[in-house]
Amino acid sequence: MTDLIDRLAGGSELSDDEWRFLIEGDYERQLLFNKADEVRRQYYGTDVYIRGLIEISSFCKNDCLYCGIRRSNADAARYRLSEEEILACCEQGYGLGFRTFVLQGGEDGFHTTQWVERVVSDIKGTYPDCAVTLSLGERPREDYEIWYQAGADRYLLRHETASRSHYEKLHPAEQSYRQRVECLWNLKEIGYQAGAGFMVGSPFQGMEELIADMRFLKAFQPHMVGIGPFIPHHDTPFAAYPPGSMTLTLTMVALTRLLLPRALLPATTALGTIHPQGREFGLKAGANVVMPNLSPANVRGQYSLYDNKVCTGQEAAEGLAALRESVAQAGYQIVVDRGDAL
Ligand code: SAM
Repeated sequence: MTDLIDRLAGGSELSDDEWRFLIEGDYERQLLFNKADEVRRQYYGTDVYIRGLIEISSFCKNDCLYCGIRRSNADAARYRLSEEEILACCEQGYGLGFRTFVLQGGEDGFHTTQWVERVVSDIKGTYPDCAVTLSLGERPREDYEIWYQAGADRYLLRHETASRSHYEKLHPAEQSYRQRVECLWNLKEIGYQAGAGFMVGSPFQGMEELIADMRFLKAFQPHMVGIGPFIPHHDTPFAAYPPGSMTLTLTMVALTRLLLPRALLPATTALGTIHPQGREFGLKAGANVVMPNLSPANVRGQYSLYDNKVCTGQEAAEGLAALRESVAQAGYQIVVDRGDAL
C-alpha cells in the first residue's frame, strides 16, 4: 500500500483497480494522511492561507438538485449585497489580515458583466496587494475575460462530478457537463488561477465517479480544488439522501494532495459542518487553505446551501483569533499573504 502511495506521489498513472483500492480499500488511512501532510509541508511548509468569503447573492437561476438556493426552492431566503456592502466586508477583512477576497454567489441576473467588472476594479484599486477570487458560476468567455482585465486573479467553479451521466442526475437537462467543463478550460486559458472540485457522497456517486474525478483533476491540473462532503438540504429533491462521509472526504483531499502537490486545497466549510474538528482534520490530510465567512452577519444564515451550514465561531471572520489558535494547535500557522498557487 505504501508503494502505491509513493507511486501516486511520484506522478505514476494508476489503474482503476489501484485507484479503487486507495479510495475505498481496507488500509490504515493515517498512513495516507501522513504522506499527504509530508508532501504539503515540502511545498507549502506549515502555512495556512485564509480567504475572506463574501457571499454576494442567494438568488440563482440554476436548479441544481442538491443546492438549497436552487431557483425552485420557494422557501429560500433571498438577498443580494450592494457594492458598498461588499467593499465594507473587504475593509473589515483587510483589517483582520485577509489578503484574498472571494466573491461567491448564485447565478444572479442582477450581476451584469459591467457591475462585476466595476466591483472587481474597485476592490483591486483600494487593495492592490490583495487577490480577488470570483465564484459566480458559468458565464460567457467574454465575461471572464473582462473580469480578468479588471483585475480578478482566480475563479472557483467546481466541476461537481467528472462523469457526464452522473452530472445529469444532479442537474436539470438545461445544465450541461460539457458547458461546465468548457467554462473551466476558458478560465484557465485566460490566465486565471482556476479552481475545480466536487462533492463527496453526492447521490448516485460511486467508485467510477470518484475515479473519474481524479483522472479529470490530473488532466485539467487546476490551481485549486474544493472538495467537501455532500450535505442534504431539507427543501431540495435530495433532502432524504445521507451526507457524504468524513473519512472518504479526507481520503479524497489527501489523494488530491498527492496527485497535485502544488494545489491550493481548502479545508471546506462543509467538512467543518459534518464534524466539529473537520477543518483541522482536513489540514492534517493535506489541505492548506481555510475560508472564513466575511459576509455581513445579518445575511449569513440566508446563504443556505445545505442544512446546518456553519457560519459562526471559527467559521466567521470575527472568530479569526480562535481559528488561528486551533490551526496552531493542529501544527500549522495562519499567514497574512495572498497565498497564490506555486
Ligand atoms: N454559483 C456558483 C457555482 O455554481 O459555482 C457558486 C455558488 S455554488 C452554491 C458553490 C458550491 O456549493 C457548489 O459548487 C457546490 O459544490 C456546493 N454545494 C451546493 N449545495 C451543496 C450541498 N447540498 N452539499 C455540499 N455542497 C454543496
